[in-house]
Amino acid sequence: LYIIHKYLEIKSGIIPEKPVTVIFGAKAAPAYVIAKDIIHLILCLQELINKDEQVNPYLRVVMVENYNVSKAAQLIPACDISEQISLASKEASGTGNMKFMLNGALTLGTMDGANVEIADLVGKDNIYIFGEDSETVIDRYAQGSYVSRDYYEKDTALKEAVDFIVGREMMAVGDEEHLTRLYNELLNKDWFMTFPDFKDYIATREKAYHDYNDRMEWAEKMLVNIAKAGFFSSDRTIEQYDQEIWRTGTSK
Ligand SMILES: *Cc1c(COP(=O)(O)O)cnc(C)c1O
Repeated sequence: LYIIHKYLEIKSGIIPEKPVTVIFGAKAAPAYVIAKDIIHLILCLQELINKDEQVNPYLRVVMVENYNVSKAAQLIPACDISEQISLASKEASGTGNMKFMLNGALTLGTMDGANVEIADLVGKDNIYIFGEDSETVIDRYAQGSYVSRDYYEKDTALKEAVDFIVGREMMAVGDEEHLTRLYNELLNKDWFMTFPDFKDYIATREKAYHDYNDRMEWAEKMLVNIAKAGFFSSDRTIEQYDQEIWRTGTSK
């Protein structure tokens, strides 16, 4: 949704200060229909944006096919921003975030999974946190009160991005069944509550892009991240597991 938003901005003449390339390393389980629809959308955006000469000097999209460790080993050290945007409470930000941190990328993420530990380690000035916290999200699930359409109707930028999924440009490059199903999923369900965090995500991401222009300050943030990554050493992790969970009595 952010990429669509950015594409529409560039089309309307709002040019980013620095060119941005968004790289997706991702996979879907064969039976996970919506995940595959999302990958389809990313592939459509890659096709549309990378071929658009008005947009491609400023924005590019790369969906890495068959993402694996060899590809990760090349991509992770090359990244400036590590996006870990799973919904808070899902515990879905796992180990990729640690690999990025160790290689000097700054995290743009929610307070989910190991992002919480990274945030504690580096401090709020050296990480870009956005979105609602786990409590708010869990509460909303419990109440059954989430209606994604309410957000869609109140936020013009969000509405434009969502509508674009089934718009003329997308239909010209993509498959109607995939795109329509994803559109309906977002408007009528949005199980992962993407809409409430959309505005804050854009604002936080723009702040990261702005901060990136001060190269010294950004380098300091990178160094703090690299320096604090030692906490995620497997020696420490396994010792802690042993003391707290396995209790073999052999660790110090
Ligand atoms: C680290 C890694 C993962 C897991 O990433 P998470 O961010 O923990 O989900 C998956 N695939 C590859 C190739 C990896 O290197």
